[in-house]
Amino acid sequence: MNTPPAPAANFIRNLIDEHNASGKWGGRVETRFPPEPNGYLHLGHAKSIFLNFGLARDYGGVCHLRFDDTNPEKEEQEYVDSIIESVKWLGFDWGPHLYYASDYFDTMYACAESLIQAGHAYVDSLTADEMRGYRGTLTEPGKDSPYRNRSVEENLDLFRKMRAGEFPDGAHVLRAKIDMASPNINLRDPAIYRIKHATHHNTGDKWCIYPMYTYAHPIEDAIEHITHSICTLEFEDQRPFYDWLLDRLADGGFFTRPLPQQIEFARLNLTYIVLSKRKLIQLVEEQHVSGWDDPRMPTLAGARRRGYTPEGFRRFTDQIGVSKADGWIDYSVFEACQRDALNDTAPRRIAVLDPVKLVIDNYPEGQSEDCFAPNHPQQPELGKRAIPFSRELWIEREDFEETPPKGYFRLYPGNSVRLRYGYVVKCTGCDKDADGRITAVHCDYLPDTKSGTPGADSVKVKGNIHWVSAAHAYAAEVRLYDRLFKTAQPGAETGNFLGDLNADSVKVIRAQLEPCLRDAVPEASFQFERHGYFVADRVDSKPGTPVFNRTVALKDSWVKAAG
Ligand code: ATP
Ligand code: MG
Repeated sequence: MNTPPAPAANFIRNLIDEHNASGKWGGRVETRFPPEPNGYLHLGHAKSIFLNFGLARDYGGVCHLRFDDTNPEKEEQEYVDSIIESVKWLGFDWGPHLYYASDYFDTMYACAESLIQAGHAYVDSLTADEMRGYRGTLTEPGKDSPYRNRSVEENLDLFRKMRAGEFPDGAHVLRAKIDMASPNINLRDPAIYRIKHATHHNTGDKWCIYPMYTYAHPIEDAIEHITHSICTLEFEDQRPFYDWLLDRLADGGFFTRPLPQQIEFARLNLTYIVLSKRKLIQLVEEQHVSGWDDPRMPTLAGARRRGYTPEGFRRFTDQIGVSKADGWIDYSVFEACQRDALNDTAPRRIAVLDPVKLVIDNYPEGQSEDCFAPNHPQQPELGKRAIPFSRELWIEREDFEETPPKGYFRLYPGNSVRLRYGYVVKCTGCDKDADGRITAVHCDYLPDTKSGTPGADSVKVKGNIHWVSAAHAYAAEVRLYDRLFKTAQPGAETGNFLGDLNADSVKVIRAQLEPCLRDAVPEASFQFERHGYFVADRVDSKPGTPVFNRTVALKDSWVKAAG
């Protein structure tokens, strides 16, 4: 394969170049990809993975895989395992840098005590409702809580009792003491620890207080000596708190400067899919799909089963780039990148998806011979393979018309076509059943016209159709996948994304395939000529009986529909 082109410059690369020029980090680039293990990774995460791991690779740095597992609820080992598998599948390696935020709970707790001691945090005992009332609005400042001026001793005592399990959930919270009148609501004394009597998947019942995400995340970054902490734009308003917190903790001796720098970029929004974890979970739990790795799911596990490739993801993330401008990318852009990547590598094979018999009446019964087809038209070095030819073939039903419409060059009575890589045949008629459905097409072949022989071009024809020998074909299950949703922004108009599910997102057929496809190993991709790219399903294929998933058609059939 060709070496990928150098990645395009973007504002984050420019910033790193500046840092390297000024010597801010001594040339160090240390990033992290910090998923919360509460769902499977999706196509949006791929953007963040390529960005963070890509920067580390290109600048000779490291990228950590960090499970941001500070929330005791909704986190599961199944998600941890699938995340690891998907990041590896995309081709990235974190070396020894696999971390769990919950391993830092002791440090986070110590940081909180030190903030209390320095007068930067206090225990508030307002109810959640009261706290909302004190918070103010975008246009009005908030008000100080009556508990805001508790003494350091009282705060410390209460916080320790919170930790010791002496209070029920919600009785108190620890808050940063910043400024209730700040124009940035995130600085109006944000909560940093809450009481939650819940078992954590890693720390068990050791804790009944848990740090808030906005408090935990900067500390995680600082502990791991992250240089560039890259996140999506919705955290922009949190950056002042990120800096406020790490500054105070550096003053308190916990961390040394320079401190990690938060940098925001625009998340990936793709049409025709949903990326919210809540919606993805709903699709799985309500069985609108067969599971997290259903080939129609916008998860990385689904993408892999669908036959999308890491190289296709690389091309896509390179193409869309990284910026601060939010926007939507049309799904066809993603599909085009996947198609291009597969076009370069997928061997060509013949598949008849909607078979009808073609009988060559003047070809001897019981005889067969080999025809030769290139494995890749643009890569002759990949050679040719033999395809058996015989008296009865499978062809596509749509390649025959009893009464041809104008401009139809394929089979109809009296017309000749080339059987691709084989002979020219002349159609003589067809058989029908009682309902008038065509059961077989008849033709005669012209013995001197075999492809690759000197007489091949002696007869000129306009049509060229594909076929497989009926006696040799591999009859296989093929799943024709299409988009899971029929609208560009599912649910945008109705508020009900499930109402926009595409009822035709999968069609399971029995196809007749070229015999060698029997030996396809799971995850092998092919171009089925004239049809598209297909992959041997990695879950349902058995040795000798692979089943195939359509990854993407050769052409985009949604252009018109979307326009
Ligand atoms: P939530 O936090 O609501 O559970 P999330 O989508 O933010 O969902 P995380 O597991 O926190 O999920 O995400 C891990 C990383 O992936 C974060 O750094 C986040 O910014 C990034 N990420 C998530 N969704 C996208 C997206 N659509 N485009 C780019 N990056 C994303
Ligand atoms: Mg998140």
